[in-house]
Amino acid sequence: MHGELAQLFEDSYRQLRPRSPVPELRAEFFTFANINNTIRMREGKLLVRVSDLLEGAPDYVLRAIAHILLAKMYRKPIDREHATRYRRYISSQHMSRKAHLVRQRRGRKRIASAQGHTYDLDVIFEELNMRFFYGLLARPTMTWSGEHARNRLGHYDPAHNAIVVSRVFDDPRVPRCAVEYIVYHEMLHLKHPVRMRGSKRCVHSAEFQAEERLFPALGEAKTFLRRL
Ligand SMILES: [Zn+2]
Repeated sequence: MHGELAQLFEDSYRQLRPRSPVPELRAEFFTFANINNTIRMREGKLLVRVSDLLEGAPDYVLRAIAHILLAKMYRKPIDREHATRYRRYISSQHMSRKAHLVRQRRGRKRIASAQGHTYDLDVIFEELNMRFFYGLLARPTMTWSGEHARNRLGHYDPAHNAIVVSRVFDDPRVPRCAVEYIVYHEMLHLKHPVRMRGSKRCVHSAEFQAEERLFPALGEAKTFLRRL
């Protein structure tokens, strides 16, 4: 099968660049977390990776992918028919169901990341940064926690400069304002570092608390979180 895939790419290459010799080419199906296809040139060799979700896809789909990737690589216009065929196939119910299942399965062992199934913490951070901090806070590493820990909603980890939010909240049933509130609270920790008052650590200072009250959906978010 891998040889056949390379053959499709070679054919496509000849159509796209009839006067150039076909470079050495390696094409393989590759396990991405999602439907993804990549092409790159390394030391004169073309390296192609096609999502293994497309293994077994009809030839016309693979030919469309070959055309799209090579056209991108060589900055040629992408043929509209190929683009349409590819898009139709990817968005077909069969494929989106397959992709969804795989995402769920692979998601479990995935490394920490800002992009969850429902919410993207990087996006939430940047929105809050603009709304409440004039865009002035430097974004730390944003990640969903690895395990389904309920004991902590979220925390700021200064050692790794990371805001970690419990993955429990990466769920369509969780209102966005609740996730925003958790992130907002941790952003205040970024802005107001822990201070010592005598021998006592002051984590949520008066300024911290005053600023927390500025969050518009505070009541709604807290009510939701209390019910959990
Ligand atoms: Zn806190």
